[in-house]
Amino acid sequence: MTTETHQASQGRNHITGKYSDIFKYTNKVLDLIEKEDISQEEAAWITKETVNNFRDHVNPGFLAYRKSVTLDGQFAAVEWKDSGPNCFMDVNGKEYIDCLGGFGIYNVGHRHPKVVKAVTNQLNRQALHSQDLLDPLRAILAKIVADITPGDLKYAFFANSGTETVEAALKLAKMYSNRTTFIATTRAFHGKSLGSLSGTAKGVFRKPFLPMIPGFKHVHFGDIEMMRKTMEACAMVGEEVAGVLVEPIQGEGGVILPPDGYLKQLRELCDEFGALLIFDEVQTGMGRTGKMFCCEHYDVVPDIMCLAKAFGGGIMPAGAVIATEEVFKSFFPNPFMHTTTFGGNPLACAAAIATFNVLIEENLPARAAELGDYMMKGLREAAVGYEDKVLEIRGKGLLIGIEFATDEIGYEVSKGLFDNGVLVAGTLINAKTIRIEPPLTITYEQADRVIAEFRAVLGTISLS
Ligand SMILES: *Cc1c(COP(=O)(O)O)cnc(C)c1O
Repeated sequence: MTTETHQASQGRNHITGKYSDIFKYTNKVLDLIEKEDISQEEAAWITKETVNNFRDHVNPGFLAYRKSVTLDGQFAAVEWKDSGPNCFMDVNGKEYIDCLGGFGIYNVGHRHPKVVKAVTNQLNRQALHSQDLLDPLRAILAKIVADITPGDLKYAFFANSGTETVEAALKLAKMYSNRTTFIATTRAFHGKSLGSLSGTAKGVFRKPFLPMIPGFKHVHFGDIEMMRKTMEACAMVGEEVAGVLVEPIQGEGGVILPPDGYLKQLRELCDEFGALLIFDEVQTGMGRTGKMFCCEHYDVVPDIMCLAKAFGGGIMPAGAVIATEEVFKSFFPNPFMHTTTFGGNPLACAAAIATFNVLIEENLPARAAELGDYMMKGLREAAVGYEDKVLEIRGKGLLIGIEFATDEIGYEVSKGLFDNGVLVAGTLINAKTIRIEPPLTITYEQADRVIAEFRAVLGTISLS
């Protein structure tokens, strides 16, 4: 079809036969996507279609879940657009300050113009890669990643998601070590594909899918003595540890910081037993905790690091696993040992390159540290007098967890915040703890509003 006939046919429902209804439906939706503003009538239609199709074709469980975390009527809040770098707007025009940050996707804010521009420019020239010629942006991004990550991390493999980077890390560690035992930690979250799920710790997500890949053990996060004993025992029985997989700060588990010295001791233990140290920085990386990478706070360099979430700048799904040459060279002889069709595509690489540019230019890691301290202080002050409800407010940079006395109180607070236009993350693994992880571009005014809403909501909760 030529461009002209392509355009001429848009909006016209000239197709007859088997697919005519589907064609009409797609036309209607394409028209809506194209619109800058939608009418009330269109908003109502979008809401109705969304709810009906979630019920009939996505998963009705999502509707039940939303009903349980929002006031009546609010459960059907349907998102439609960004509202500036730090807010979402629903189809009815209600604005939400994004303190969920897509669980850590939006470090440079929503649709940062530089990232949008890089991706659009790339899209206008070439969308995806030939899969045969050498793709320049992959190579250039790999160099940037090598230069910006600490220590001697040097070779990168690009993926489309966090779970894929963990899969790649596990395969790389096996390939390098000829060992099959991995140690992960309690409350860890590494993703939900079968390999990464083996490292993830929450029983409810694992149990129906057992057995996991063989060789996975879990020890308590922060317990270095147990880690040592487990490594010793593994060595004694001839099942030497290939790698220890750990988040430097546990995100999904409820923003759990490592005890003093833990990560350094872990590094030493891994060296002693010839195991690789794998840091999952999918959530903590890209400036979130106040440094470009969380491990820099602790002065520890892993052998393999996983990045995703904010890696694509909130525009493209993208992730990277980066390793030392010593480790990665096991993939040199046959680079096809681990591959992905879309990983490292030109659009994703353009987005990631622009993301690093923005993180550096706008000094966002330092901004995360500053705003994080400000918000944590404000939230703690707001919680004074509610010690029976709020047990602890902790975090680093703009990865903040608020732990409540009970699940019910946590739910009431996130519900109240949502109704007042503040989106927060109730954690999947630990419902008692909600996470505050806004774009690193959040303003002081917005931070003040979040703190004020938190104070107001605490005052309305009758549970204890
Ligand atoms: C979100 C997350 C993952 C999984 O990433 P997906 O892109 O959802 O597959 C893995 N590890 C950590 C630490 C995460 O926070």
